[in-house]
Order: sequence, then C-alpha cells, then structure tokens
Amino acid sequence: MQILCTSADMKCPWEGQRDQLDGHLSKCAFDALRYIITPLMTENEQLKELIGKFHDDNQQLRDQTGQLAIQANKYQREIQDINQQLAQLKTQLQNQEIKEQERHRSVWEYIDGDNFDAFLRETGVGMATRLAVKCLKPCLIIDEFQNEWMIRFEKFFADNAEMECGTSKARRWYKRAT
Ligand SMILES: [Zn+2]
Repeated sequence: MQILCTSADMKCPWEGQRDQLDGHLSKCAFDALRYIITPLMTENEQLKELIGKFHDDNQQLRDQTGQLAIQANKYQREIQDINQQLAQLKTQLQNQEIKEQERHRSVWEYIDGDNFDAFLRETGVGMATRLAVKCLKPCLIIDEFQNEWMIRFEKFFADNAEMECGTSKARRWYKRAT
C-alpha cells in the first residue's frame, strides 16, 4: 500500500511504502523547510481570509454607494419640486402685492390752476417751457401700500400740488377720476 509523505500538505510529491518513509524524510527538502513554510502557509491563509473580508466590505460599500446615489437623486428631484413651488408662491405673492397696490390707487385729473405761470416764471422756467406746461394736464396718481403713500404726476416734472417760490404761490385743482 502506497502512502504519502508527511509533508504532502506542503506539496511534496513523494509516495511510497510505509517502511520507506523514514528514509525519504531524512532527505525530504519539504520536511526540512517545514519550520519556514508552516508559518508562511498560516500567514497566507490569514491573508486570504483578510482579502475575502475586504472583498465583502467592498461589495457592501458598493451597495451603499448605489443606494446613496438613488437617495441623492430623489432629494434632488424634491429640491427641484420645492424650488418650483417657491417660484409659484413668489409669483402669487407678487401678483397679490400688485393687486393690493392697485386697490389703493387713485387717479386724479387736473381741472384748473391758479397762478401757475407766475410761479414757474419766478422759479426761472423759460417761456417756451411755460407755454408747453400750460397745455399739459397731468394726472395725479396716489398709491397707498402698507401704510405708505406715494404721490406722483403722470408726465410731469413736479410732485407737489401746492407750490411756493419767492412771492408767487401757485395752486392746482384735481378731481378724482378712478
Ligand atoms: Zn517528502
């Protein structure tokens, strides 16, 4: 019956009769190196285990990265939705503000003036301009928004209905149009 060398685990190819084993072991190169090879084999096994563990960890990390990417996509879409909603709300708010402003707006039409020409002359406005201004009948627009009043003339240079300069005092009359 053939038996293997006791160092067959280290890949010694010898096989022979039991009574020949001692003779082989006395010159078996594998058996002679057992004290070196055994710790190397143990170390090799440990490294293999470690590689296996790293491989598993790597796979787990890949899975997690994939899930995170899916989640990031989802959040990105949600952010886009929220931004759209914000834009819509902003537009709605602006529209409401405009409506609010328009609700408190009143337009006053010019009816008559008193001493306006003399007033302009005194402030140093030239004749050509005074003649042009005489023909203008600017509307007075009053806006009220959040307790603040804004009064302005349409197509005109001044923003006071009553003016005083030097000895001249001028007045203009308006009636509410809208
Ligand atoms: Zn051997």
